Amino acid sequence: MSRLVIISNRLPVTINRSAGELHYHPSAGGLATGLNSLDESYNKLWIGWPGVDITDEWEKESVRRDLAGQKLAPVFLTPREIELYYEGFSNKTIWPHFHYFTEYTTYNDDMWDAYQEVNFKFFQETEKHLRDGDMVWVHDYQLMLLPQMIRDKFPNISIGFFLHIPFPSYEVFRILPWRKQILDGILGSDQIGFHTFGYMRHFLSAAYRISGYEHVFGRLHIDEREINVDVFPMGINYEKYAHPDVNAEDDKGSGEIRRLHASRKIVLSVDRLDYTKGIPQRVSAFGRFIRNNPQYSGKVNLIMIVVPSRANVDQYQSLKAEVDVLVSQINSQYGTFDWMPIHYYYYRSLNFASLTTLYREADIALITPLRDGMNLVAKEYVAAKEDTKDGVLILSEMAGAVYELNDGALTVNPQSHQEIEEALLEALEMSAEEKAERMENMQEKLKRYDVKHWAATFIKEQSKLKERNKMGS
Ligand code: UDP
Repeated sequence: MSRLVIISNRLPVTINRSAGELHYHPSAGGLATGLNSLDESYNKLWIGWPGVDITDEWEKESVRRDLAGQKLAPVFLTPREIELYYEGFSNKTIWPHFHYFTEYTTYNDDMWDAYQEVNFKFFQETEKHLRDGDMVWVHDYQLMLLPQMIRDKFPNISIGFFLHIPFPSYEVFRILPWRKQILDGILGSDQIGFHTFGYMRHFLSAAYRISGYEHVFGRLHIDEREINVDVFPMGINYEKYAHPDVNAEDDKGSGEIRRLHASRKIVLSVDRLDYTKGIPQRVSAFGRFIRNNPQYSGKVNLIMIVVPSRANVDQYQSLKAEVDVLVSQINSQYGTFDWMPIHYYYYRSLNFASLTTLYREADIALITPLRDGMNLVAKEYVAAKEDTKDGVLILSEMAGAVYELNDGALTVNPQSHQEIEEALLEALEMSAEEKAERMENMQEKLKRYDVKHWAATFIKEQSKLKERNKMGS
């Protein structure tokens, strides 16, 4: 049976320590769902960090044994590695840079050294497991050097790489002092996937201008190897959001939301607190909408769910302070005794039941990132309207999801308060027929191109390439 070795920074299980005991929590994120759905003809092994600091060798061995039963292999990281490789190079250098926030890019050699070392640590774990004929699938920006490390030792193995964030334009990418090493690291793969055509084009342009590799219809040739660079937009688990399996116990908040909804329109936004998400711009635009449209005073609420993220990075702390001030300014300026325009929740994280209730109840989803690799929340909102078709998606032109949803969403430039105001007005005044038609357009696509389709297509293309390149046996 063919074997698929999946490698990502995090395992689909998180280990916590409480009262001296280790507890295992499976995390069924989109990636895990997509990969689990893959054809049973693949025997899968997943390699990644389990999210806990373990130093004791006996304890490591016991975790290793526990996880092996679930076909998971842990890579243990030290607190220093987490600080420099994960919070450092990954989240203070690559994350801002690849999202065009170059003023936030940190240039630090210790972080770069740690990034190389940890990628090598992942390689050492991978090497222990790899067998002839395996297929490898490496995920995301934390592991961009890993494909070439594997290639050096296993010249004949089939390696796929998928980047879940944008790949920036060459002009931005070239600013990184480590641009060539990163590019060469990714080019160790045979198949390289991106969410959008634009990210793919940027990558191909960087490969040409930095390393001189010319492509023909997305195919590169390095030595004897053919490399396929292609677009695989990631979908969601459509059914899960269309018909959520939620019990009343978990769905505590929905009664309150429904009461609010009885008299007011709900505009919803859900994101991590991240400078890429355009949160202050959205709040200001909503303030402008209220100021210019007094007929909606008391009749519309913005429910803004913000999930804490990377709280120990400076920019995230100042962003939190900025949003707090903006929200309270607008609420104090326009609020009345019985109406607070913005309901702002800074949660640890919403559970699935509350999140899907909000999706179902919201009249409008206002999703306005300044830059976003894909944006799954936009897709989940649309799926949650499967039964009612009653809702409008306002979506930033800068989200990867816009290329699949632009025939149903109202698209806006996230920096333009005016465009957001106009889109809100249009959405609030849209006829039921138009809403349903737009929803159906989007739903049809999301149903067909779900996360299972995404994973299956990536692997199918990689298998074909493996045959052509005569890799493994
Ligand atoms: N999400 C969640 N609980 C929350 C808020 C968000 O589980 O309180 C999930 C949401 O359903 C989505 C993911 O987090 O699947 C966010 O993905 P997205 O691509 O929108 O943004 P990212 O955070 O990956 O930049």
